[in-house]
Amino acid sequence: MTGPVASPLTPPPTDPLAAPRALYLHVPFCPQVCPYCDFHKMRRAAGLVEAYVARIVDEAAAAARWPGPLDTVYVGGGTPSHLSDAELDAVLGAIARGWDGLGAVETTLEADPLTFDRARAARWRAQGITRVSIGLQSTQDDVLRFLGRSHRGGDGLQAIADARAAGLEVSADVITAVPGQDAERDLRAVAAAGADHVSVYTLTVEAHTPFARRGVTVDDDRAADDFDLAEAVLAEHGFERYEVSNHARPGHRSRHNPVYWRGGACLALGPGAAGLLPAAPGAAPDVVSVRTMNPPIKAWLRGDPPERTPLDGRGFALEKLMTGLRTVEGVDLNGLRATTGIDVATTFPDALATALRHGLLALDGPRLRATRAGVRVLNAVLRGFFAEG
Ligand code: SF4
Repeated sequence: MTGPVASPLTPPPTDPLAAPRALYLHVPFCPQVCPYCDFHKMRRAAGLVEAYVARIVDEAAAAARWPGPLDTVYVGGGTPSHLSDAELDAVLGAIARGWDGLGAVETTLEADPLTFDRARAARWRAQGITRVSIGLQSTQDDVLRFLGRSHRGGDGLQAIADARAAGLEVSADVITAVPGQDAERDLRAVAAAGADHVSVYTLTVEAHTPFARRGVTVDDDRAADDFDLAEAVLAEHGFERYEVSNHARPGHRSRHNPVYWRGGACLALGPGAAGLLPAAPGAAPDVVSVRTMNPPIKAWLRGDPPERTPLDGRGFALEKLMTGLRTVEGVDLNGLRATTGIDVATTFPDALATALRHGLLALDGPRLRATRAGVRVLNAVLRGFFAEG
């Protein structure tokens, strides 16, 4: 990955010591509960959404002590578009009041294909949403049924068309390695429909999900083949893979996600939302930044504070390796040392040497990147770093 695409506006900062100019807001409500999903999500219930909206308004007002301005806002979930117009107005209004507007560079809303049409997409655009991330997953009815989704293949493609017609940037999620799926057909259909950005995820069977209880398995060879297929098919359509899962046409890389990948500060609102803040004045001198994790909805509605985990230089460096090595840009080791005091070569000598010797990581000057072979086994490579020191 390279820097954010050229923009006349200031790109999101990446200095972890800088005040946050990115915000993530979690909406936990979904029209269905998919059997593979382990996110913090739930169905709507009487009174629950009203309580959620009221609490978000309070939480945004409190978080606005960080003055911004915000460059990027990401409203994710769950399914944010499952909120009614009035509910979404209240949530977006809370952000706009807190920071004198939505994201100046990019404001993304995650949306389910069955929750909007062209008119609703136009309403979102007029409110300041610039980009939708559509939970399309597949264009094949039998695959969508297997995944427990309510929409059908044509609905996702229609959603792309409606969002584009409304002037929104469009990202679409596709899940691969699903039993019975023709992944190439899905990827070609999504590209042909005009998505600007495609996030491709391999189906994973997480513990304690209905898929895990049913014994659903994912074929590793099939997953690896689909990973290569996605890169090849999308490249034919003018996309570039700039992170393990993310592919963009020129000028359409996400501006928000690189904030995470580079360890930049990000505010987090909503139940279960994770953020990263600069170390507070008076914090221990070795603290670089603070990971925050909001509690699940019951405690969050009560007003319980987020769990705060201070990251020292080593902890921050590990997070940065974990996210930065997923990107084609890699990690600037000189920059990391300047920020954290951690020299990767001397702090993790065995893990680094082993990965370099096996051709899984490569150094280009001060920049450390995962090779093609390394990207496929990145979790194993990272385990070596976490185990050392
Ligand atoms: S819509 Fe998304 S967040 Fe909701 S249950 Fe399905 S996969 Fe999970």
